[in-house]
Amino acid sequence: MSLPIIDQEYFTKFLVDLLNIPSPTGFAEPAIEFVEKELSQYKQLELSRTRKGALVAKWDSATSIGRGMQTNLPPVALTAHVDTLGAVVKEIKPNGRLKLVRVGGIQWNSVETEGVWVFTTKGEKIRGSVLINKASGHIYGVKGSKTKRDDEHMEVRLDERTTSEKETRELGINVGDCVAFDPRVEVTNGFIRSRFLDDKACVANLVAAIKSMAEAGLSPARTVYFLISNYEEVGHGAAAGIPSEVEELVTVDMAVVGKGQASDEFHATLCTKDGGGPYHFGLNNKMRALAEKHDIPYKTDVYTFYGSDGEAFWRAGGDVALALIGPGIDASHNYERAHMDGLNATTNWILAYLLEG
Ligand SMILES: [Zn+2]
Repeated sequence: MSLPIIDQEYFTKFLVDLLNIPSPTGFAEPAIEFVEKELSQYKQLELSRTRKGALVAKWDSATSIGRGMQTNLPPVALTAHVDTLGAVVKEIKPNGRLKLVRVGGIQWNSVETEGVWVFTTKGEKIRGSVLINKASGHIYGVKGSKTKRDDEHMEVRLDERTTSEKETRELGINVGDCVAFDPRVEVTNGFIRSRFLDDKACVANLVAAIKSMAEAGLSPARTVYFLISNYEEVGHGAAAGIPSEVEELVTVDMAVVGKGQASDEFHATLCTKDGGGPYHFGLNNKMRALAEKHDIPYKTDVYTFYGSDGEAFWRAGGDVALALIGPGIDASHNYERAHMDGLNATTNWILAYLLEG
């Protein structure tokens, strides 16, 4: 069986649009809505939400309108997350600027001078940028470059006329408001450079796979649930939302690229162990066999400072076989970059899994 064609143009546009929707953990609803709207065009899918706000799409193989080689095996699931690293307003400073606390551990040096949106509880968004508190070279000289980039020394300068805590509060900003960093998306020579390819790239992989199958008139071999989670970056995204009858869960999330890693931007990766321990031997082997059968370029790798949504489900008591696949992402949780080769390999792997069961 050959895999259906992936619509490259669609994939890139969907991913760029999704990257441009701010969705830090705690404020991921606009991105969930965007994916929900996109998937609502496929009548094969039954969409629902968890109480926590995650999106679930069920594709029932038995009632499927497409062609396929349906089996009577129990359902499977795939998951990816739309929430990203971000921040929350910790204090409004006497000078009217904001002190932030990070959500999910973004590296301050990587967002220094970046544009931000502050989302107020009244539904407004206020523009600003992240600076060290000794930013002016003409005032601080070398002290600026020697300043430690940490919660204490970074601040948000709002693009509003405010020089006091009172004036900032009058803008509608409160302690606890969500803050999003600009993604800075750029597509060049097959590379996609942006913050938060983790894990929006993999959400695009899932959506593109669904589109390819639907347009080819194909249906999954087994009933499948897609969980688009909204709390992964803080460790418990997919802890809820996977139905108990699901037998296998494939987490689709970025592969770590850099010194000491086997992964690269031109392959998909099967991670056999990360910070949460080893994945499921049997499902790992099944994923390898699928990749080999369909000539999907892949690596196997081990990640250190990494935990996945599948593990969140395991820790919450989920009883499934679990695997983790995904495209190589350079400089993860920093200014990330992926390549279409690794992204296509991941979409094809998902297609092979859906079609063969
Ligand atoms: Zn991730």
